[in-house]
Amino acid sequence: MATTLLYHRDPHLLHFAAVVVGHGAWQGRPSLLLDETAFYPEAGGQMADRGLLAGLPLVDAQVDDVGVVHHVVDGLLPAVGARVEGTVDGARRRQHMAQHTAQHMLSSALLAGHAHAETVSSRLGENVCTIDVDVSALSERSLREAEDLLNATIEQDLSVTAFFPDEATLATLPLRRRPKVTDNIRVVVVGDLAAPFDVSPCGGTHVTRTSQIGLVRITGVEKYKGMTRVSFQAGSRARREAFARAGLLEELGRGLSATPEEVPAQLEKLRATIKVLQIDKAALATRVGALLGEALAARSGDAHVVVELVDGADMDLLRAVAVRAISLAPGLAVVVAGRDADGGGNVVVSRGTGSVLDCGALLKRLVTTHGGKGGGKAETAQGRLGDVDATALTATTMALVGST
Ligand SMILES: [Zn+2]
Repeated sequence: MATTLLYHRDPHLLHFAAVVVGHGAWQGRPSLLLDETAFYPEAGGQMADRGLLAGLPLVDAQVDDVGVVHHVVDGLLPAVGARVEGTVDGARRRQHMAQHTAQHMLSSALLAGHAHAETVSSRLGENVCTIDVDVSALSERSLREAEDLLNATIEQDLSVTAFFPDEATLATLPLRRRPKVTDNIRVVVVGDLAAPFDVSPCGGTHVTRTSQIGLVRITGVEKYKGMTRVSFQAGSRARREAFARAGLLEELGRGLSATPEEVPAQLEKLRATIKVLQIDKAALATRVGALLGEALAARSGDAHVVVELVDGADMDLLRAVAVRAISLAPGLAVVVAGRDADGGGNVVVSRGTGSVLDCGALLKRLVTTHGGKGGGKAETAQGRLGDVDATALTATTMALVGST
């Protein structure tokens, strides 16, 4: 026989007593069957309740095809016929009630106004809640409009009621979506049935007044299979997340010696400063690189190829060194490598107009021997080496040069 569902009558009922009517099994685990229960079993996108049953932790609650609720507890099952007490985890239940009611209301709010988007499916997860709506895009404006409407309606403290209408009554109700079941349809109404905010068929647990939701925040929007997926938070989770974000913003402000309101302008200023510094740095790299390149060309003597290490140099600087050296010594080819703290570094291999060394082939050999990646043409090649060591690089380079 189906279990009597006490949460349908009163979602705020957190303590109850019931009689054990049997022992069952759910996915290989023993389960306790009661005549009635206040524990919500996982269904309709809402997660199962947790709590204590007969003094044992309730680890899962599921409902079978005939409406029997299976209570999976951690411990020895009390005997059939025993009277047991149950306590629902109130914080978890209130969170589920808030986010479930918020989902109905957000779906309604997105259908109204500019969004005009119909909800196709929803998920009420442990950390994030999402609904998928049947439009390919939602503007920022229509999302904020829906969020504002939703929060304004929460403040109005509307009643949320549920009932099982007969077939004739059901036909007259302005249901937002069609029921998924054919009989025993439960309808949840947000607001006065004469002018409701939302009317949906649903078997879940909901708040009894909208103010119990607290607040709803739309936290994300993304394209999903031709539709739009909207993420939201409700109740205490939304409040915690909003407060945490506010805290982060204040911390960011302290780091920038700014108030939270000044943070965007300060960041913009920083971005502009970085841009100027990058330009300065590139100009400096060209000048320093030219000087280093000149020195390299001067001491290359009769060599056909030289290896040069410049600690901490980036690609701009390495290129400048190479370009200057081979322009002053056209018969020369150079391997110029930077070395970073991790032992690896960028590398540029370039040849002057009078050199016949295949720079691409040499870089390939260097990568094979010293790790890293990169490539290029016969005239010039660049990449990154896993291990930069002057003696080893010179040995590899000379081995290749000697073999050609
Ligand atoms: Zn619902």
